[in-house]
Amino acid sequence: MRNFLVVFLVLFLVGCGSFDDSVVTLIDESDNCVSSVSYPKTSESKLNRKIKRYVKSSVRDFNSNYCSDDVLRQELNIDFKSNLISDRYLNVVLVKTIEDEVWVKTFIFDVLKHKELSIYDILTDNDLMILSDKVKRGLGYDNIEINDLGVQFDDEFLYVYVGDSSVSIPLEELDLRIKISKDLEVVKSYQYKSVSKVIDPNGKVIALTFDDGPSRYTRLIVDLLNEYGASATFFVLGNKVSIYSDTLKYVLDSGNEIGNHSYSHKWLTHVSEEELISQINQTQDVIFDTLGYTPRLVRPTYGSVNQTIKDNVNLDIVLWNVDTLDWKYRNSNKIFKNVLPKIDDGKIVLMHDTYEYTYNALKLLLPKLKDLGYQFVTVSELKEVNSIRNELNKNG
Ligand code: ZN
Repeated sequence: MRNFLVVFLVLFLVGCGSFDDSVVTLIDESDNCVSSVSYPKTSESKLNRKIKRYVKSSVRDFNSNYCSDDVLRQELNIDFKSNLISDRYLNVVLVKTIEDEVWVKTFIFDVLKHKELSIYDILTDNDLMILSDKVKRGLGYDNIEINDLGVQFDDEFLYVYVGDSSVSIPLEELDLRIKISKDLEVVKSYQYKSVSKVIDPNGKVIALTFDDGPSRYTRLIVDLLNEYGASATFFVLGNKVSIYSDTLKYVLDSGNEIGNHSYSHKWLTHVSEEELISQINQTQDVIFDTLGYTPRLVRPTYGSVNQTIKDNVNLDIVLWNVDTLDWKYRNSNKIFKNVLPKIDDGKIVLMHDTYEYTYNALKLLLPKLKDLGYQFVTVSELKEVNSIRNELNKNG
C-alpha cells in the first residue's frame, strides 16, 4: 500500500518596510575559541570602512588575548542594530561580548553629507548638560567624559551608552542641532502562494538544511531549489531577518521551511539561561513580526546542546547527520565529492547559505540526487514521512 503525504502551505503574512542593506556574518571555530561576528554593510563606503576597522581590530585583539592554549575555550560575539532615521541619519550600534564583558560602539552617519556625526554635531550645549545630568544620576557616575559616550537615536529617544549600561532621553526634552521627523512605518499586507507538494513516503527523501543566513546567496539557492522542485530548511539568524525580509518571504513562498538559529549566533551552551532564552525568543519574535510565521525548529549554534537548552527551548532541536564541511573545503567540487558518498535515505544535510561555493556545490548536487531518485523535503516533512513509515511498519 502506498500512502502519499500531501502538504499544503497557505500562509497569510504581514510585513513592513525594510531597510535595504546586507549583513556580513563571520563565524570561526577553533580548538581554543569561537567567534561569531555580524555587522551591516551599508550604502556608505566610508562608514563601512570604519565598521570593518573596528571589527578587524576586535577580532585581532580577541585572537591574541583570549585564544591561547592554556585557557578555557572563549567566545567573541559581535552583534549590531541599525536604523535610518528621517531618511538621513544612519545609526549603527555594535555590541561586542567576550564571555560576560560587554562593549558598545556607536556610529551616526549623515547619508546626505556622507560624513560621520559626533555627539557635538547632534547635541547643543544645553542638551549636553541634560545628558551629563541623566548619565550621572541614572548610572551613578560622578564624572563622565563626553567623548567616551556612545550615542544613538530613533524617532523618539536618544540612547547614551557608557560601558555596557545605557540611559534613554526622550527627544522632546532636547533642543538638538539636527531635525528629526517622526518616521511613519509603512505596513503592507502580503498573501502567500499556496504550495502543494506530493511526497511519496516509500521513496527516498533527503532534508537539505542551510545555516547562518539569510545572505545574498539565499535567493539564488531558492531559485536553484525551485528548478528541481526541491524544498529545504533555512536556519536563520534573528539579526538578519528584517534586513532580508523580502528574501525570506521568497523562501517561504517557494515552500521551504524556516527555523531558528539564535539571534546573533551566540554559543548557546556557553551563555546564561537568560541570554539563551533571549537569543531564541528575540528570533521567534522578529520572524513572526516580519513574516507572520512561527518557526517550530531550532538548530543550536555549533551543534552543541545541553540540558538547559532542552529544558528552556520549546522548539524541536534539529542537528544533522551529513556535514558537507562547506566552510572548511571552500571549493564546490571538494564539497560535492565529500558529501555524495554520505548521502542516504532520510538524512539531514548541513550546509551554509552564506557562501558562493556552497551555491555552486548545490548546482552539482541537486541534479545528481534527483537522478538517484531523491525527493528533497523540509525537516518537518521528513518528520512526517518518518512517522508515516513507522505507522506502515506497525501495520505490517
Ligand atoms: Zn551556525
